[in-house]
Amino acid sequence: MSEVLLNYIKGVCREGAGADTFANENPSKRGSELNRAQASTEADVEAAITVASAAFKTWSRTPVAHRQAIVESFLGALAAGRDELAQIVSMENGKTIRESRGEVDSALLEGRHHLRQVTVFAGESAPDPDGDVTAWEQYHPLGVVGVISPWNYPMNVMCRKTLPALLTGNTVVFKPASYTPWSAAFMAGLFDEAGVPAGVFNCVFGRGSSIGNRLIGDPRVRAISFTGSTEVGRRIQSMAAAGFTRTQLELGGKNALIVLADADMDAAIEATIKAGFGCAGQWCTSTSRVLLVPEIAEAYTEKLLARCAAMQVGDPLDEATDMGPVAGASQFNAIAASIEKAVSEGANLRCGGISDNDGGYYVLPTVFDGVTREMSIFREEIFGPVLALSTVKDLDEALQWANDCDYGLSSAIFTRDMPAALRYVREIEAGMAHVNIHSGFKTPELPFGGWKDSGFGPPENGLTGLEFFLERKAVYIGAT
Ligand code: NAD
Repeated sequence: MSEVLLNYIKGVCREGAGADTFANENPSKRGSELNRAQASTEADVEAAITVASAAFKTWSRTPVAHRQAIVESFLGALAAGRDELAQIVSMENGKTIRESRGEVDSALLEGRHHLRQVTVFAGESAPDPDGDVTAWEQYHPLGVVGVISPWNYPMNVMCRKTLPALLTGNTVVFKPASYTPWSAAFMAGLFDEAGVPAGVFNCVFGRGSSIGNRLIGDPRVRAISFTGSTEVGRRIQSMAAAGFTRTQLELGGKNALIVLADADMDAAIEATIKAGFGCAGQWCTSTSRVLLVPEIAEAYTEKLLARCAAMQVGDPLDEATDMGPVAGASQFNAIAASIEKAVSEGANLRCGGISDNDGGYYVLPTVFDGVTREMSIFREEIFGPVLALSTVKDLDEALQWANDCDYGLSSAIFTRDMPAALRYVREIEAGMAHVNIHSGFKTPELPFGGWKDSGFGPPENGLTGLEFFLERKAVYIGAT
């Protein structure tokens, strides 16, 4: 009998109101069961919101320096648990062990950024607005906030939302993705170890479709920070609108890389490999469309195919592995269907496809060329290691094609032509623009969010990542 991961509510691991559990499969071993997690009910969500609401009264009045000290000790515990956590992430998500360590490092970097920056929100004073009137602006935490995260960065995304929420004085009910409950349970343990008071951070496992509505629809939940698909984000937004619940939605992408004739070809290829196949193409900022000018299209494609052939796909815990399995059965089936659809619509499959290693959910680095704007593979997010190559006439056409997309998350260009690069930066319709750097590169000081169907509300990181969790108040004090 596998261990059952329990909800973490009011500082203790608790059995849920119902008896149902769901299996946590290791995607590199089909049919395996790492452990099970509670399939929570609405009653469990209700319990978590109630304790978070009670804990808010004290936490919101806890001095920021004290909250910083607790988050600092959480980051210390996270750094100490890096290797153990990385193993868990690789086992339940399938990303390579090197990628999982990178995920923990990214969470530490971002956490330290939020820890430093929270004191920026001290408010402004207004110089003497009307004779004897003294006036200033001050910030207040919102209350209980809901954090809903995806499985692709199971601990980094939850930290990017939870730490700013806690630092600014809010309490949290966290719902992790069903593919990755173990990392979430480990994180709950770290919050406990760091001395986060009971009820300030709570974690409830379960299917979004069955408990999500309860979290979003409760009037005590003042904001939802969600990362996941555009489809679910749209549903959450319409539900949240009914109660004027604040939302921060980080959604899907179909990110384009443009390669011009004067590009450093080797650098462009390495950037394609990194952002096309990193975490088996399951970054929201993964490169998935490549727009090539005719002068270099053939040379680029040949080099890319050679690099793909050299990639080692296999056990994510093996240090030598370049790409692990995709995250699970439904991911695998969806990617396989997208590959079939691309073939049926006339795209040329140049390499890859489903792996014959059926021990796990393995997809090989897959490249299609001859992709046109009308094809689904050009428009729909696949969220797997599948690249769509198209040849375009020039930069004008590359920008038109790159922007001809519902999504607008990330993008990149490789060129040595500075005016062309600056034009791309100006005209690309995306929240992130990279010149001679892969499309997944980011730093916590700058906003992480998308345009168009890729995001809604203030982006994460930067300063908005903290400000999202605060209300503003203007205060006026008369002389008498
Ligand atoms: P998903 O939308 O299926 O699920 C995300 C989370 O929402 C999960 O915890 C899920 O249980 C929950 N959920 C599902 N239905 C819900 C509902 N009705 N109410 C409330 N919660 C619900 O996404 P996923 O498959 O976990 O992740 C992949 C997607 O996430 C991709 O589209 C990817 O591009 C996107 N993503 C975006 C970013 C970003 O920063 N923009 C980062 C990572 C992933």
